[in-house]
Amino acid sequence: MNRPGHPDAWTGAGFETVAIHAGQDPDATTGAVVVPIHPSSTFAQDAVGVPRGDYEYARSANPTRTALETCLAALEGGSVGLAFASGMAAADALLRTVCRPGDHAVIPSDAYGGTYRLFAQVFAQWGVEYTPVPLDDPGAVAAALRPGQTRLLWCETPTNPLLGVSDIAVLAELIHAAGGLLAVDNTFATPYLQRPLALGADASVHSTTKYLGGHSDVVGGAVVVADPALGERLRFTQNATGAIAGPFDAWLVLRGAKTLAVRMDRHCANARRIAALLAAHPAVTTVYYPGLPDDRGHPVAARQMRDFGGMVSFTLRGGEEAAVEVCRRTRVFTLAESLGGVESLIEHPGRMTHVSVAGSPLEVPADLVRLSVGIESVEDLVDDLTKALATLA
Ligand code: PLP
Repeated sequence: MNRPGHPDAWTGAGFETVAIHAGQDPDATTGAVVVPIHPSSTFAQDAVGVPRGDYEYARSANPTRTALETCLAALEGGSVGLAFASGMAAADALLRTVCRPGDHAVIPSDAYGGTYRLFAQVFAQWGVEYTPVPLDDPGAVAAALRPGQTRLLWCETPTNPLLGVSDIAVLAELIHAAGGLLAVDNTFATPYLQRPLALGADASVHSTTKYLGGHSDVVGGAVVVADPALGERLRFTQNATGAIAGPFDAWLVLRGAKTLAVRMDRHCANARRIAALLAAHPAVTTVYYPGLPDDRGHPVAARQMRDFGGMVSFTLRGGEEAAVEVCRRTRVFTLAESLGGVESLIEHPGRMTHVSVAGSPLEVPADLVRLSVGIESVEDLVDDLTKALATLA
């Protein structure tokens, strides 16, 4: 079972076991149980062109990064995992590996603003056309696909910030019939709650800055793919363009991954409670959370996810002013961008994380508030939000 460096070495083991052990055998020389941080940029060779071990130069590969990449590939059930300097660097590497000038991509009409910006302001300049489509509408997706030209269907589920859910298996079938690939941004769900490759996706992409890192102390990204040949092309891009995860960053994400399952269980439980509180509150108009039975994404989420995640968004009867005021009032929920850490965060997407989509088809409601529900005592979270919403009803 135990073959270091192979994502399939732990096939059959439970998720938590894989997270703690895959790619993380005790150090062969010292017996160190925890994978060491290897800061060395270069590795001694025994003769010209004869490396002593598996490593030559740390942009190409580094032992700490290899441990993380092996672990992530195993967690996602893929053949190759690659760790990058940020979630955007991971997306960029996948796009430049798969798309050529003249190609077309279908992207979500609700997604992280930075992803839209990457398509609209970076790759569009290099001749990659894109069409934003509501991905929870398979008919609209089918109509937007251009067989032979659509190289990539980019999916995010659940979406940031409206928690939209789309059916990965249905999207995989549609894009494969058109001759393209399906990439799923799995940042919100994490491989603990959802495994896109098992549902037919070709690539699972992460901002490891979020739940995988889990402690708001690292910026990173990753791509895991099913097809080894695509994995080798991506590895070439990673080395050729160089946006790698550094050894300390890789180590932090690896440490975070070990506790992902237990953290996610608490994130989900706390978010469920917060969503119920908001759904019953007179100051709130709409709650976006796929765990609510009447949420539009609930049936698909219940089918393809283990649980519904730690992100909750909502709109307020008092409009934009009330949304900004709630963000100002909370004390346990810290007003800050980002998500997925142990601490609860609150933000106003329209003026913060999603400024880059203002005026685009992805513009978010001005009265929207987004919560990253942390793993604090849930009673303190309930109390904090109840007080913040008190006079807004
Ligand atoms: N994907 C999603 C869903 C995100 O929320 C983010 C960042 O917020 C990214 C990708 C980009 O990740 P990073 O900030 O690590 O570059």
